[in-house]
Amino acid sequence: MPKKTLLMSEHVQTSAFSKDNPFPAKLIENRLLNKPGSHKETRHLVVDIAGSDLHYKVGDSLGVFPTNRASEVDELLMRLSASGQEAVSPAMLKLTTPIPLREALTSRLALAKPTRKFLELLAAKSADEGDKAKLAVLLAPEGKDQLAGYLEDREYVDLLAEFPSAKIAPQELVDLMRKLMPRLYSIASSSKPFPTEVHLTVAIVRYETNHRTRVGVASTFLSDRVELKNTPVPIFVSDSHFGVPADTAKDIIMVGPGTGVAPFRAFMQERVATNATGRNWLFFGDQHRGTDYLYEEEWTEWQAKGQLARADLAFSRDQVLKVYVQDRMRENAAELWAWIQNGAHFYVCGDAKRMAKDVDVALHDVIAQQGGLDAAAAIAYVKQMKKDQRYQRDVY
Ligand code: NAP
Repeated sequence: MPKKTLLMSEHVQTSAFSKDNPFPAKLIENRLLNKPGSHKETRHLVVDIAGSDLHYKVGDSLGVFPTNRASEVDELLMRLSASGQEAVSPAMLKLTTPIPLREALTSRLALAKPTRKFLELLAAKSADEGDKAKLAVLLAPEGKDQLAGYLEDREYVDLLAEFPSAKIAPQELVDLMRKLMPRLYSIASSSKPFPTEVHLTVAIVRYETNHRTRVGVASTFLSDRVELKNTPVPIFVSDSHFGVPADTAKDIIMVGPGTGVAPFRAFMQERVATNATGRNWLFFGDQHRGTDYLYEEEWTEWQAKGQLARADLAFSRDQVLKVYVQDRMRENAAELWAWIQNGAHFYVCGDAKRMAKDVDVALHDVIAQQGGLDAAAAIAYVKQMKKDQRYQRDVY
């Protein structure tokens, strides 16, 4: 069979399930990865995809359709003086038949990030002079920046509680809400050893704003609301170009602090399963070595077996001064350059806002310094790496 056909058959989905028709999977494991005393809550989740005919490759993501917290839906219904059975047809959903309000608020609409339009509706419906005055200040043209921060800190339920004199009809509310979107998680397993399972490494998001506990909808759906082996978890596989080199003799360098480590666990499983001869080098970081070295036993075993050539670790809060993965890159600049010169593929996964940018700067610096290149030449060198797909990022 020609090589192309072989490759295609690996990538093309044969399953009937997709984003538009998600597979009702089961969660079969939900395990805390951090040890007692950690400030983090990162979970190892195993999703059973047996019977779906879904296939995935390392580097792909799993799309998950979450549901909102029942307590928050109940509070919204209470603030609307609604039972939940009211038939609604939210504008964003473009439905042909209306659905019950409770269903719309539970599984179809996002309860966070209220819009300016909703404040305008509250202003129009407000019956109290105090509420009206407060809303007028919030909506004043000169208060744009302040309004963004105000809305960021609140969800729809907070605004209904804050302006109780405005009587909002269920249909008016749902018409202004956004769709509840699926969340994508980088897959932390290889289908070679786990053909019917998808592993995820998920940071559970819980924080406080405006004196209320907020949660990440999808992360707490998976960790708190899905009952093991029972609640259906609607999922789909999202294809990606992020992945191990086709040439298994190539070395790889993986930079993945925090949950960014997820795809690299998959890379290692894949490289071991395919007897890849190229070397593997991990840069991992998190807060504390004692509690937050995610999958420590697995990395240690791969290292002991010689399958992981190096693991350079940066535990940011184990000493007075912060240490990050890019510091470890700089400390090992000569070796890193030798690997890159030898054709290694360089991968980054995790936080896009700060970490991936800082790692990118460090990569340029290492190349400039070690290769004796000026800034422009280092930029060109990295550009070429990207073009050759030797520098890939999965950042969020
Ligand atoms: P994380 O806790 O954000 O970070 C893991 C490690 O990276 C920590 O040791 C952290 O150190 C360090 N770090 C912080 N800034 C860095 C930088 N500029 N360069 C390199 N390393 C840096 O990672 P996580 O476990 O993946 O995520 C935990 C929480 O952050 C979750 O709630 C997640 O949702 C959220 N998060 C949000 C975004 C986003 O909104 N774009 C992206 C990633 C993560 P220190 O914390 O000690 O400084």
